[in-house]
Parts: sequence; C-alpha cells; structure tokens
Amino acid sequence: MTAVIAALAEVLFPTLCLSCGTVMPERGAHPFCGGCRARLRPIASPLCPCCGIPYPPEDGPDHLCGRCLLNRPPIHAARSYGVYEAVLHDAVHAFKYGGNLTLGERLGRLMAEHDYPSFRIEDYELLVPVPLHRRRLRQRGFNQSVLLAREISRRRGIPLDFLALRRVVDTESQAGLKKDERRSNMKKAFSVAAPERIRGRRILLVDDVHTTGSTLGECAKSLLQGGAESVGALTLARAIQEPL
Ligand SMILES: [Zn+2]
Ligand SMILES: [Zn+2]
Repeated sequence: MTAVIAALAEVLFPTLCLSCGTVMPERGAHPFCGGCRARLRPIASPLCPCCGIPYPPEDGPDHLCGRCLLNRPPIHAARSYGVYEAVLHDAVHAFKYGGNLTLGERLGRLMAEHDYPSFRIEDYELLVPVPLHRRRLRQRGFNQSVLLAREISRRRGIPLDFLALRRVVDTESQAGLKKDERRSNMKKAFSVAAPERIRGRRILLVDDVHTTGSTLGECAKSLLQGGAESVGALTLARAIQEPL
C-alpha cells in the first residue's frame, strides 16, 4: 500500500531538478538531474586549508593563500560544496527568493553528504547558522541558513542552535552608506545572545554563499569573543572572483 501511495505521489508531485526543472527519475537522491549535475563544480584540493579558496590543479598540494598567511582569519577552516555559478547559482536564487522551502532540505542534504578536502563536519559540536536581521526575516519569512543547517544537523547528528547568535544591525540594507560606514556597521552586526551555549565549543557556522567572507568572519569574531573554542564555516556555494 505504501509503495502504491509513493508511486502515486511520484506521478502527482514529481521531483524536479532544482536547476532546469526536468522531472527526475528517482525521488530525493540528488537535487539536480544528470545534465545539470555535470555542470556543477564541486570544490576539491588543491585549496587554502584556512579560507578554502580553490587553486588550479597544477598548483600542487593544499597550502595557505597569501591573504591567510598575512592575516590569519578568525575562521580556522572554511569549506564550500561548489563554485557559485550556473546551476548552483540558480538553485540558491530559487531557494532564497523563490520561497520554495523544500529546496533547503535538498540542498542541505547535498552539503551534509559531501566529502570536503581536509575537513570533517563531525569534528564540530554545534551548528550555528548565520542569522538574519529580524527585519529581513520578516520580509523573507525564513532564514535560508537555518534550513540548510537543520538538514545537516538531522543527517549528521550534530545539534543546531539558531538563537545563540543574533544579527543586531541590518547590514543587508545599507546601500546608501559609504564604504567605511558599511565596514564599521559590519563590525557590530552580530552579538552572542547566549554565551553559555557556545562557551568552550567547536562551532560550525552554516550559510548559503561565501562571498568575501566578511559576514562569516564577523560571526566568528563574535563567537570567539563569546568564548567559543574554535569556529569553522560550511557554505553551499563559494563565489570565486578570479578565474581558476
Ligand atoms: Zn537539470
Ligand atoms: Zn586562504
């Protein structure tokens, strides 16, 4: 009977590829169809073990990048599933701005089940999604990072705390501000709401896209000031400015 219902559900509510919308043959296995999957660029070694920026294959083994050598970021290891382009870019947009919450589950699963170079999700004790300012949360109705982190938490058995860190400045709506005003706003954007929940713990920040790393960096600084032992970061996608 269950099989009949499942088969019926498959016909009535087929699983669609998150990028091109093609009907997928099997439910739940992967968020993208074969064609779109071939266009994904998962991030592998060689990379910077600290900020996770990938290098061209001829660059040899993993090594610290110039930026991390000069100025060690507060995040000791940042990793992303893939490069923020084409298929992954479309999926993030459909998820974040299209309001399709089931995408969070499927993209979170992709993050949870991936093997990251020189990095293990299970080395962390607590998942903390990058918080949205309450004004932004009201507009969007959900925090995409919480949905991704919830799926990782469920699949990897690591507790999730989406209240420990708060975004106290709405840094996303500061288009009218000058660059240095934006920077100083960013510096006070986050605050630890419950230090007792993060003290002495190895924390993994979760977000959808790693762009410049400044948001993740400020979150990490707040968590470390609040007493966290160490902070890593896991994102679905990584924006790469320079060509690989
Ligand atoms: Zn597709
Ligand atoms: Zn680096």
